[in-house]
Amino acid sequence: MGVQLDKTMGELESLLRTKLRGEILDHLVANRHPQGSRTIADALGKPHHAVQRAVCELVLQGRITQVARGADRKPVYRPVEVGPCEWCELVSHHLVAGECPSCKTLTLDLARPSLARLVC
Ligand SMILES: [Zn+2]
Repeated sequence: MGVQLDKTMGELESLLRTKLRGEILDHLVANRHPQGSRTIADALGKPHHAVQRAVCELVLQGRITQVARGADRKPVYRPVEVGPCEWCELVSHHLVAGECPSCKTLTLDLARPSLARLVC
């Protein structure tokens, strides 16, 4: 009985964590500006510690990435997306703010394409 309950609670927690990661990802996709875990937690109305953990999991999964530091010096994140790069127009599975990884390293000093310029 106790073991079964533990298993059920574990599965429930896992479901809730998956749901929270999805909500964070949706929030970052919908809000084009990079955001830190505190801002995301406030926007979603979720506890900061839970959001921080989910953000770490998303980074480890390669679904979001740190792009800069915010006004409070804390990391801010953007989703890793699939789509055409705004520089080279090749479809990338690691698009961040409209830039593929190979263009990102080449274009740091150039005027940036529209989305990257807007959000980073
Ligand atoms: Zn590119």
